[in-house]
Amino acid sequence: MNSPISIFIVLAALSGVLSVLLAIYAFVNRNKYSGINLFFWITGLSAIYAFGFAFELTGNTLKEIMFWANVEYVGMPFIAPLSLILVMYYVGLEKFITGRKLVLMLIIPAITLVMITTNEWHHLFYRDIYLNPNAPRPMMDIVMGEWYVVHGSYTVGCLLVGTFLLLRYWNRRKNVLRRQIAALLIGFVLPGFASFLYLMKLTPYEMDLVPIIMCVTSFFYIWAIRTSGLMIVAPVAREYIFDSMRDGVLVVDPAGLLADFNPAAAMMIPGLSSANIGKPVSELRLSENFDEPVFDFHSDHNVTDEKEFSWSIGQETCYYHIHSSPVINRRGRFVGKTITVMDVTERARMEEKLTMLASYDGLTGIFNRTFFMETARVILAEAENAKESFSLIVFDIDFFKHINDRFGHGVGDQALRHIAALGERYLMAGGLLGRYGGEEFVIGLPGIDLPEAAAAAEKLRREIENTPLNSAEGPIRITASFGVAEFGLSGQSLEELFMEADRALYRSKENGRNRVSTAKDDLVLQR
Ligand code: GH3
Ligand code: MG
Ligand code: MG
Repeated sequence: MNSPISIFIVLAALSGVLSVLLAIYAFVNRNKYSGINLFFWITGLSAIYAFGFAFELTGNTLKEIMFWANVEYVGMPFIAPLSLILVMYYVGLEKFITGRKLVLMLIIPAITLVMITTNEWHHLFYRDIYLNPNAPRPMMDIVMGEWYVVHGSYTVGCLLVGTFLLLRYWNRRKNVLRRQIAALLIGFVLPGFASFLYLMKLTPYEMDLVPIIMCVTSFFYIWAIRTSGLMIVAPVAREYIFDSMRDGVLVVDPAGLLADFNPAAAMMIPGLSSANIGKPVSELRLSENFDEPVFDFHSDHNVTDEKEFSWSIGQETCYYHIHSSPVINRRGRFVGKTITVMDVTERARMEEKLTMLASYDGLTGIFNRTFFMETARVILAEAENAKESFSLIVFDIDFFKHINDRFGHGVGDQALRHIAALGERYLMAGGLLGRYGGEEFVIGLPGIDLPEAAAAAEKLRREIENTPLNSAEGPIRITASFGVAEFGLSGQSLEELFMEADRALYRSKENGRNRVSTAKDDLVLQR
């Protein structure tokens, strides 16, 4: 065993051992991944091939060598077509692999096996076999027969097609799976190249280098399995789901770098492109619309986090719910994060609409009673804290029933809008206007005391009186009566304040309408 051949024997045996390990791995995980059965067969057959080859190299007589060559052929012819099928699975062509096609693809290798075992009767595989006189050890050399050419072409053909499919797939994929594709590619290109050299008789001692090369390719398979944490088979279904999801998904590696994203994410996030892959996801400043980094999530790996964002796509403002969650592999190790971007624009619009409906009066467009009360309560509390005054003006249209009766409900509605518009136009800064009931309105005035509020009410009263409604029936003169109260002077709660203002309003009505009364009788303003 001192010959230069020994190193090849050792390497071939190592290939065999690695193949057995891979086969065991595949067998143990056989229920976990689709397509892994294929990997089991490929590695198992590779082991037979590699060990057969190692023993062939140790053979001393042509008979011994022939025996081990036959053993090799139990495995070798099937490896290339099965690998091609594995790749078809991998790149999403599994629908083409029907039972019948599988049988068809394995017919040539099966014939090869028959041919080699029965060669001495027909010499279609090896035309001639002899011991290579130039080799340092007894080695078999052959003259190719017809079927040998068929077998060789078929093997190289399968490897070429597989390489082509993988290269095509490589272009369509992004980082995450490229490690696996790279491993598969090496598993195709290297043996393919070695087979080619062998067929061209360009190898040392015209020896088949494939079983030795397989030692390298096995290492790459193991590397792919170990580092990507994923089995090398059939990620297609997963990818298909990823690609066709309606929600955007960003995949972030453990270092916080963007590893992948799906088409939905590219649609939702302006500026997101493959140029961003490999960049820190927290610093992604994807368009000028983002004044803060959207994807800057909690640096603690195990934290699930979420937030709401909106940005414009074209003319439209879209709302997004962004959710970040850690990805933990089977062994409990943190292997990255996914950031899901959900379009919640519809929901946000609906909420906005509901808020509108809940806050505004449909007829006049000013705050409705509920919203006015809620807001006034907050403003009142603020004013109280700041030791500022807060006044309330309540006013009610005079003889509104007459307007309805005389001109119809439509004109009545018009009158309500007219008064609301005047109220808004003469509202003081910081003031709050609401429709309190049918034809009754209310104004909250933070920072304004009773005399100032009474003056404001008087101003508005005069504006209403002097601004008739321009209706189809001609100008209609409208007047309103006012009641004014100030917090602290006349009540201790918003409700008490209202009652005071209402009482003053009642006095205005009593005293002939179209006037302002205050909670302090001495402040009654006469027309
Ligand atoms: P007063 O000077 O004493 O306030 O007399 P008034 O007629 O204004 O008061 P009253 O409370 O008797 O009548 C209010 C009317 O307002 C009755 C109701 O039909 C009418 N009204 C309430 N809401 C609406 C509305 O949304 N549109 C129209 N057109 N009329 C309304
Ligand atoms: Mg009225
Ligand atoms: Mg009324």
